[in-house]
Amino acid sequence: MPDEYSHVEGARVLADLNALRGIGAYKTGVHKPTFSEPHMRSLQWLAARLPDAGLTATIDGIGNVFGTSKTAGRKLLAGSHLESQNFAGWLDGPLGVVYALEAARVINPDSDTSGTVEVAAWCDEEGHFGHFLGSRSYVGDMTEAEIDAARDRSSGRPLRDALRDAGLAGRVRVTAEPGRHIGYIEAHIEQGETLESNGLAIGVVTSIVGIWQYRISFVGEQNHAGTTRMSVRKDAGLALARLCVAIDDRFPAVCGPLTVWTTGRITLDPGAPSIIPGRADMLFQIRDDDPAVIDRLESVLRSLADEVAAHGRCGVTVERLRTGAPAMMALEFQQGIEAASAAFAGGRSVRMPSGAGHDAQVLATIVPAGMLFVPSIGGVSHHWSENTSDADIVTGAHVFVDACRRLLAG
Ligand SMILES: [Zn+2]
Repeated sequence: MPDEYSHVEGARVLADLNALRGIGAYKTGVHKPTFSEPHMRSLQWLAARLPDAGLTATIDGIGNVFGTSKTAGRKLLAGSHLESQNFAGWLDGPLGVVYALEAARVINPDSDTSGTVEVAAWCDEEGHFGHFLGSRSYVGDMTEAEIDAARDRSSGRPLRDALRDAGLAGRVRVTAEPGRHIGYIEAHIEQGETLESNGLAIGVVTSIVGIWQYRISFVGEQNHAGTTRMSVRKDAGLALARLCVAIDDRFPAVCGPLTVWTTGRITLDPGAPSIIPGRADMLFQIRDDDPAVIDRLESVLRSLADEVAAHGRCGVTVERLRTGAPAMMALEFQQGIEAASAAFAGGRSVRMPSGAGHDAQVLATIVPAGMLFVPSIGGVSHHWSENTSDADIVTGAHVFVDACRRLLAG
């Protein structure tokens, strides 16, 4: 193993990230939808570099890249993803993959550190075809029938066709080998502004919030917007609007300190200027890391919906579409990352939950898992202008590799 890998090299980390930015570049970011040509080229790029870390590269039947070692002893799995949202940033995903690669390059040949870092790039974390395709396939939570049914959410192209065109049809999907890893670690940009606004370098992730999603449907009476007197109307759209306001008035008194809620879509039927809406639907989402808080909010949501429906002489149904269990990050991983931050980031770290979903929440269902965040400039993400200062990227790399060492040491 060449001597150049004896320690973390910030310039090398930045060069690797810029090499990945050069594949599928869009303004200062990238456009790399899952299984697009630039995405596949990014997977090949990683596969070509894994031997530098003493790892054997495989791209499996769902598009996951693995770097595996034949060395005996403790193994830590590290990674993130290489595809992007459409016309999005250069660091969301690649940062964690390049940190994992650097950790493997530095730690694996080091005779003073026992244990090995193995690398994974999980396919389609960004959900072009589903959600967490790659990591769910790895933990055994993905059926062939689900793959048969999945389609690209923007083009409608079947996942099977995309896999075939990417040359992955017929390949085995690699699944987790029980007991192989002591755990999984992932680095990511924060995608918020907690770190930047507090002058901090590292976020030690405590949990990844769960997402609960609802469809709320009001049914009133469709009628003429000119001839129907106000006093007899059953306006489903008005009832829905009242609910949005009532939620914002009442939730703050019952929510947790970090709860967030969003009405992401409103549909009025028939949706015309001269017709009183007979039906109104909204998609509503709540995120929190405490199921007890969600239970409380859901019962408030249901009673508010009943109140505004009765007031507007409408009917209402509240249907839960998605229940997201929050994922707790392992305490020993939080401690390892914190100790590494004390050593390499002057202790400028804070424990915080993740409001966004990450592959670590899927891996946490089978092994202890941990995550660290680096600052996002202006909290911007899922946009081509997403960025992190070079200094923060390099500090994060030092903390990440040291955390891996500590975890392997036990
Ligand atoms: Zn990401």
